[in-house]
Amino acid sequence: MTATTLSRDAILDWLRAFATLIDENQDYLTQLDSAIGDADHGVNMHRGMQAVIGKLPGLADKDIGTILKTTGMTLVSTVGGASGPLYGTLFLQMGATTANKLELTLPDWTTALEAGINGVITRGKAEPGDKTMIDAFGPALSALKAANDNGTALSEALRQSAQAAEKGRDATTPLVARKGRASYLGERSAGHQDPGATSAHLLLKAAADTVEKLA
Ligand code: ADP
Ligand code: MG
Repeated sequence: MTATTLSRDAILDWLRAFATLIDENQDYLTQLDSAIGDADHGVNMHRGMQAVIGKLPGLADKDIGTILKTTGMTLVSTVGGASGPLYGTLFLQMGATTANKLELTLPDWTTALEAGINGVITRGKAEPGDKTMIDAFGPALSALKAANDNGTALSEALRQSAQAAEKGRDATTPLVARKGRASYLGERSAGHQDPGATSAHLLLKAAADTVEKLA
């Protein structure tokens, strides 16, 4: 039987999987940020996700909304820079749409991610093509919506959204940054992959990997 929903335990597994991917890619993310930023994206995300990991034991019996809201608040309070408030908002908004839920269907997950991404857009004002995390999140959300329309199974839908995020991440390389620190470089920001789009792909890959393991 393949899983048709994300249980609370799956959500906790997803957060752990994301923390692990951030840990494994910390130096890579920081390296990317050293080219067009201030060399702290890996350190920032690692600090934040380690703080989240520390909170998980106390969240094991809570609803998904509480788990995600606590994750968001933890990121806001522990991660400096642009990415802390932006990832914090993503999780806070995901938590708001999943209040009291103990499992998420594919439509629930899609609704939650859409609310989260809209929160990031409201807060950061980035548009597609500005060379930010939105360039990975946007295509991932479109892929999820298409999967909903096509009746695609949960695990395949999450894989497709991760693949769309990966493509979106790769497509940031030639772009000139129009938001965040990288925008200070103007044309010189072109030719470098965006760090935030890179971590955003890891978030969606963690979800796909987690559900694949549930099968
Ligand atoms: P900082 O830029 O403050 O040092 P980080 O290095 O942790 O913060 O994160 C940088 C990433 O944040 C960028 O690669 C980009 O993807 C993302 N980012 C920056 N500004 C915005 C914004 N306004 N909207 C969306 N994402 C943004
Ligand atoms: Mg930085």
